[in-house]
Amino acid sequence: MAHLEQYYAAPERICDGRILLVEEEFNHAVRVRRKRIGDHLIVVDGEGHRYGGPVVELQKERLVLRIDSVEDEVNEPTVHLTLAHVWPRGQQMDWVIEKGTEIGVSRFLPVLSERSIIDPAHRLQRLQKKAIAAMKQCARCRLPQIDLPIPLAECLNQPDGIGLIAHAFAADRSEEAIFDRIRRVGRAVVLIGPEGGFSDAEVEQALHSGWIPLELGARRLRSETAALVAAVKILTRIEEI
Ligand code: SAH
Repeated sequence: MAHLEQYYAAPERICDGRILLVEEEFNHAVRVRRKRIGDHLIVVDGEGHRYGGPVVELQKERLVLRIDSVEDEVNEPTVHLTLAHVWPRGQQMDWVIEKGTEIGVSRFLPVLSERSIIDPAHRLQRLQKKAIAAMKQCARCRLPQIDLPIPLAECLNQPDGIGLIAHAFAADRSEEAIFDRIRRVGRAVVLIGPEGGFSDAEVEQALHSGWIPLELGARRLRSETAALVAAVKILTRIEEI
């Protein structure tokens, strides 16, 4: 894959065939990469568009690019994968958001369960920045969504696609049939437990609600490892990686 340096502009900074770069993106383009009038830049809007064109205006704190080309959904997976995750403590989610974005996760949904340890709500702004940086770095053009936390029961009742629960017990269904269904539906959500795992009642409730058990191998993985292994496993099996 060709290495393309990408910049990010939120959709409201794109209008009438022009893109405005300010603040961090301006600094990166002008102060770090020394871009000047006439240089060609690639800009993504986080909503599935990748733009290309020359710098046509350069002022003290703003750079304007003229759009010469637009491409849609470049390097985006065809299956929309949600990581519904009872977040572990510490800084682990920085890593999960960064790596999950690179791997091809489309949505990070924090879930509150019986054994939740942290409340993710106050971390979301910082993590949004991580996701933007990862999207640019790995040449995606859609910014993964990071949601406000919801209770497990709500997540179980409204799965965003085919629902899978990562839990260490022998899966009794053909995995290939599951991945076929995901390919057909185009959306899947995988639920990952916290350090302490899910309670028996929670697992029972998930299975009762039609969630499908997903095995991640014989070894017991830490919550953050399980999240990434699950994303890799699903996207590999449906041939996105
Ligand atoms: N102490 C817990 C383990 C929690 S591991 C227990 O004994 O159950 C954290 C989460 O990672 C689990 O809830 C599960 O969602 C996932 N996980 C870890 N290893 C896994 C494996 N081998 N297969 C499937 N899911 C796994």
